[in-house]
Order: sequence, then structure tokens, then C-alpha cells
Amino acid sequence: MTAHPDQSNRDQASEDQSQTYASDALRLMCKYHIEPTPQNYQIWYTYASGRDPDLMAALDMMINSGRAITEEHCAEITEQFFFNEQTSKQVHQASTRLQALANSLLSHVEQAGAENSAAGERVATLSSSMTDPGRSDDVQHLAASLMKEAKLIENVVNNLQQNLGAHNNKLTELRSTLVKMRREATTDPLTGLANRRGFSKFLNRAAEIAQDSAKPLSLILLDIDHFKMFNDTHGHRLGDEVLKTVASRLRLNLKGQDLPARYGGEEFIAILPGTSLDDAVTVAETIRRALGDSNLVNKVTGDRYGRVTASFGVSRYLPGEPLEDFIQRADKALYEAKKRGRNRVHRADDNNAAHASPRLSHDIACD
Ligand code: GH3
Ligand code: MG
Ligand code: MG
Repeated sequence: MTAHPDQSNRDQASEDQSQTYASDALRLMCKYHIEPTPQNYQIWYTYASGRDPDLMAALDMMINSGRAITEEHCAEITEQFFFNEQTSKQVHQASTRLQALANSLLSHVEQAGAENSAAGERVATLSSSMTDPGRSDDVQHLAASLMKEAKLIENVVNNLQQNLGAHNNKLTELRSTLVKMRREATTDPLTGLANRRGFSKFLNRAAEIAQDSAKPLSLILLDIDHFKMFNDTHGHRLGDEVLKTVASRLRLNLKGQDLPARYGGEEFIAILPGTSLDDAVTVAETIRRALGDSNLVNKVTGDRYGRVTASFGVSRYLPGEPLEDFIQRADKALYEAKKRGRNRVHRADDNNAAHASPRLSHDIACD
């Protein structure tokens, strides 16, 4: 079947793009002295393609910290973005399939090798008899035999190429299955933001970098105001739409290396590496206004649902403190913002971690 010209143009364009990503990936690996392993290549190819904002944020944070990116860092990235405990069983199945593919590929290569060497021997015999061809019929006969052998070799090579192509497709398929599994394990399906798991991994790394580089690190925790009432009035489905809107506002108002995540039901969190408490409070104010200033309208029916506001707690990381304390201070500040009338930003004191707010234990639940 002949490919449609548009389709083949598209194929060509996507092939060109893949080559650009591949060379960008190699250039970056060279620049940051990354070990040239397949896993590391996968990380940097994904980074160069711009397909995974969370992975990009994680790497940008490392690059901007100015520290060397070690093999250990790369292994962590691979673990977080390409594998994790939840998917280990599936990864095991996938690697068993890979093993089977490799074995079958090997047998194809061996078979092709055997057929080629048999053909090679026949050609060698023919060629030695050509050194002294008695008559012109002999030459004709030899030429025909050579052509036959050449054709046989060509068939073997074609078969091998087809098999290699099929294996390559299966490998690509497996790879995208693994990427999809990883994404599902660290992403909140409703909003598309990182979930609690993705958030925790990112925070661990961000805190480690902040500690080593003496750069600031801040957290914004936000909770939608009177969301239960919204659900009760307009229904859970519309409530879900609001959660998606909040997520997209959050995304829009954060910059490259920040990570927004869905922390619990109607609570969101953002990690802001390299950001002081003052700057994080400014960012939180911007998000608060972006949310509170807009009226929610149903685009299809034109129905209006009024404003949805949120309250914010902001804290800064104190190097060396347990990460729970860092989060608890933001949570306590959020509680304070609620207490003072909602739809406001409250900054955490640096030293009140020991007195966690009463709502923390039950209100912030794991996904
Ligand atoms: P406050 O201003 O004190 O935060 O009041 P609230 O009503 O927002 O807080 P409360 O904790 O009483 O209620 C949270 C509500 O969030 C309850 C639940 O129905 C809603 N919620 C949690 N997760 C989801 C979700 O995934 N979808 C929808 N639609 N609603 C959710
Ligand atoms: Mg809540
Ligand atoms: Mg709420």
C-alpha cells in the first residue's frame, strides 16, 4: 500500500524532530558530563523533547543549582519518572518480554549469518572456478549462478531488516507503555498535576539541593474556600471542573522549575525552588487574585456560578528541618488564613512547627 503524501511528509517531519531531540539530548549529556547509558539518554531525550514538564522542572532545578549532576541523581530521576514501586511488577513483565525479544532477535541474526555463510561458501567455490573458465558457456553459467546467490543473500538481508524493524516497533511500544505507567503513578488523573507521590519525590530533591546550595526554597499550600457548599449547590461534577480550573490557574502562574501538585481533595501545593518567602508570598497573592477575580461561567449554557476563592499558607524551608515541619508550617499558616476570613495569603512563622494545627491530621489525606 502506498503511503499518502501528507502522511509521509508528517512521518519525515517527526523523524527530523526526533533527530533534533536526539542531538540536543547528546549535547546536553556532554555539557553536564552525564554517563552515556541508555537510561540517561532516555532522561535527556525526554527533556529535550519538552514532553514532560515535571521531568523538565526536576532537571532545571538541578541545572540551576550549579551542582554536578551525578549518576545517583540520574538514577533517582529514572526511578521517579520511568519506574517506581507500583509499576515494578509491570516493569518485570516488560523486561521478560524484552528478554524474549532479544532472544528471538538473536536467533534471526544467527540464522541470517548461517544462511549468508553458506551462500558465501557457494560464491567462493564459484569464484575459484571462474579463475580458469574453459568456455564462454561456462562463464555464462557462472554468472547466472552468482546472480542466484546474490539474490539469495539479498532475500536474507531483507528478511533480517524486516525482523529488525518489527523488533524496533515492539521496543518503542514497550517504552511508551513504561512511560505511561510511570505517568499514571505520579499524576493526578483529574487535574493532570503531580499527585502526592510526585510531589514528595520532588520535594525531597528540592530540599537536598536547597541545603547544599544555600538557595532558598518555599512552599505554597492552598485550600479552596467553602468548597463543600459549592459541591452541595452545583453538584460534584461541576466541583470537579472547578478543581481543573484551579489547577490550570496554578500552572499558569508558576514558572519553569516550580512544581504544582494536587495535595488532597481540594488542596493544592506548589514547591518553589530558589524562591524566598517574600517572593513566594507575592506568587501566592497573584494566584489568589487570578482565582478570586474570575467569575465561573458554563461555556455551553452561559450559567454563572459566581466566584471561587482559596486561602493560602506559605512557608520557607529551614535547612535541615524535617520536611513534615516545612509542610506543617505552611498548613498552620493556611489555617490562620481561613480563621482570618478566607480568600487571603498568610505567611508562616519560622519557628512554630512544633504546634501543628488541629486540622492537619485528618484534613490532609494521602491520595
Ligand atoms: P473551607 O473553606 O474551610 O476549606 O471549607 P470547605 O467546604 O472547602 O472544606 P471541607 O473540608 O469541609 O470540604 C471539602 C470539600 O471538598 C468536601 C468534598 O466534597 C470536596 N472535595 C474533595 N475532593 C473532591 C473532588 O475530587 N471533587 C469534588 N467535586 N469535590 C471534592
Ligand atoms: Mg480542605
Ligand atoms: Mg476547603
